[in-house]
Amino acid sequence: MIQLENVSKSYKNGVHALRNINLTIEDGEFVYIIGPTGSGKSTLIKLLDGEEIPDEGDVIVNDVNVGKLKHSKVPYYRRNIGVVFQDFRLLPALTIFENISFALEVIGMDKRDIRRRVREVLELVSLSDKARAFPNQLSGGQQQRATIGRAIANHPKVLIADEPTGNLDPEMSKEIMELLEKINTVEQTTVVMVTHDSTLVNDFKKRTISLEEGYIVADMMKGGYLKYD
Ligand code: ADP
Ligand code: ADP
Repeated sequence: MIQLENVSKSYKNGVHALRNINLTIEDGEFVYIIGPTGSGKSTLIKLLDGEEIPDEGDVIVNDVNVGKLKHSKVPYYRRNIGVVFQDFRLLPALTIFENISFALEVIGMDKRDIRRRVREVLELVSLSDKARAFPNQLSGGQQQRATIGRAIANHPKVLIADEPTGNLDPEMSKEIMELLEKINTVEQTTVVMVTHDSTLVNDFKKRTISLEEGYIVADMMKGGYLKYD
């Protein structure tokens, strides 16, 4: 479960990025975070992954009070959340198989378990035939599927996706959405997705949380995209 209680965050320049946010996301939910540029979406994500610390309030993810974690504990905490960005951030010198297995080697998983899990993940993201390919040999959509595979390889309870379709055409974006839905259902991963893509938000109806100037201005169970850029 994700819980934000009276969370505020401002930056050194005095900008109030988030103001008194109260929010609960249950295990297994699929939630969009929408809102115009500068409304606080990235800050919210940074609070969830421990990159930023709230000025006030508590950010609790799977019983961990993220804002109160010691700096040295943050990497361990991050093992339990997967993060996907707009740019794919695959390691260019490694194959797709190796990109995913690397993420599991880092956490010390047994070699045989790694191979089994990587094969399973490649199957899930429909890239079994691309195991030996390098990132630059894949389309953008395929690269993003690989990134998502890498992010969920360790069975995180939460997957955070920051504009995962931002660099993709509508057809590929739809594929990515279908994959995220599959992960949400099959792996029961909670998905929190920041997006500007009004077509997706309207086509794949999910709980939609709208931010504006650091406030939550709407939180609708089957939201749609009402306005914004
Ligand atoms: P969004 O992701 O919705 O575009 P952000 O969370 O990135 O919003 O930004 C919210 C506000 O905080 C904006 O006014 C932005 O300029 C400001 N901001 C974000 N990051 C920083 C930072 N590191 N230092 C100062 N101001 C920041
Ligand atoms: P096993 O000992 O079970 O045969 P391998 O390491 O030979 O395990 O790998 C089994 C399969 O996993 C291979 O057929 C290949 O498709 C894939 N694989 C393993 N390592 C890599 C790699 N570095 N790059 C791409 N594919 C790999």
